[in-house]
Amino acid sequence: MNERGHVENAVLLSVGIAVILEGELAIPTVEALLAVGVPVTLGALFPDIDTSFGTHRKTFHNLATLGAFVAFPVFFGNLHYVWIGVATHYVLDMLGNIRGMALFYPYPEEYDIPVGVAVSSKWSDAVTLAVTAFELAVIAAVVHYDLHQPVLEAVAPYV
Ligand SMILES: [Zn+2]
Repeated sequence: MNERGHVENAVLLSVGIAVILEGELAIPTVEALLAVGVPVTLGALFPDIDTSFGTHRKTFHNLATLGAFVAFPVFFGNLHYVWIGVATHYVLDMLGNIRGMALFYPYPEEYDIPVGVAVSSKWSDAVTLAVTAFELAVIAAVVHYDLHQPVLEAVAPYV
């Protein structure tokens, strides 16, 4: 997907995540929207920096980059939610686009889930919306069923 698709995805995700965090069907506050929306959108834009620095779909489209953004708030106390933008960028690229990415970079092999359309496709926006809906459903399930608690408990002794 191109930057427009990633920003559409991030803004819609941010509104959805703010609603999920605020409570069921509540209108999110401006504070919640900004607190989630700005870092998620910045995170969603980060991976494609490798179009200018490095090799596109490799240098910043990998699990090590995502791991760095997951760990950053644990060690430095800021950049919370940025990893969600990075992760959802990867999901949109994997599910919405026909090109893969080098998940285990510097190992150069690109992996892809064989669905999605070309960036130039007339279906690109519809696919972006469908992937965004899928991502929100997963996030809502994680929050609603406390699926993140075992992960938090597992890492608690190390932070
Ligand atoms: Zn990308």
